[in-house]
Amino acid sequence: KGIADKLFKTKQGFTEKIHEESKKDEPITDEYLDFIEELLIESDFGVKTTMKIMDAINEGIDSGSIRTRQDVEIKIREVILSILKQVEKPLEIKHKKFVILVVGINGSGKTTTIGKLASLNTDKGKKVMLVAADTFRAAAIEQLEEWAKRASASIVKQNEGADPAAVAFDGVSSGIARNYDVIFVDTAGRLHTQKNLMNEVIKIKKAVQKAYPEAPHEVLLVLDATIGQNAINQAREFNKALAISGIVLTKMDGTAKGGIIVAISEEFKIPIRYIGIGESLDDLKAFNARDFVESVFV
Ligand code: GDP
Repeated sequence: KGIADKLFKTKQGFTEKIHEESKKDEPITDEYLDFIEELLIESDFGVKTTMKIMDAINEGIDSGSIRTRQDVEIKIREVILSILKQVEKPLEIKHKKFVILVVGINGSGKTTTIGKLASLNTDKGKKVMLVAADTFRAAAIEQLEEWAKRASASIVKQNEGADPAAVAFDGVSSGIARNYDVIFVDTAGRLHTQKNLMNEVIKIKKAVQKAYPEAPHEVLLVLDATIGQNAINQAREFNKALAISGIVLTKMDGTAKGGIIVAISEEFKIPIRYIGIGESLDDLKAFNARDFVESVFV
């Protein structure tokens, strides 16, 4: 599987510390519960999820089902798994002409993710088109072109500075007319002002709908797991503007604060489609709750 060795930072920063404590044959004290609560907050579980976990522990203590520190560890694992199970809904490309609008802040790993997904799909023999609607930076267009080449996908692009909605409209129209299986629309992610960015992605979504009324079939938000609670704010803004249908959480290999995946899941209940665990092609994994939990727990 290979995901456990990529998630070792979260294992070290979070579950190993819990495990060390639960190995001690000592009673559950207030200090111990404070330690657990602080660790959850530090690991980016967020206040809401931390409270949910602490409530479950306290209920268990009151009812007598939790007697030892080991029972606490088991309970934490159980609550996390049940939260993550709710968002384990892999992306299914159910039919041809499947249009995926990909959004996210610059640097989140949007282009890399599109490249990896393009490869996964061309490997299965699907005809894939990439639409370069991030026209703000020439480098973004070039980078997408590189990925298109590598994945043997087609690309629709215009020059830097072109109207992103016009590029999206042309790209999707052309992909639909030419009967492509999967069409990925890349979008800008510059965070000049959040309001401008949201207005722009809304325009792009409308252009996609104008080109093909049943599209987009998926609005995929790419989030960087290393930015902590900011990821929650980004998800909230994008979801308000676009109604996000799926999330990719990238750079899970680069953070000890893997709790963010649980915080996002509990807050939005939006399917986590994939997690990114590195920069290479096969470092994008379809999200599986049990694999994840088994990889980060000792
Ligand atoms: P964009 O600006 O959102 O299009 O971001 P890019 O796709 O250019 O990615 C920004 C940087 O993050 C690049 O150096 C990528 O290689 C890196 N990156 C993307 N996904 C992952 C991941 O899952 N793990 C790690 N470690 N790096 C990643």
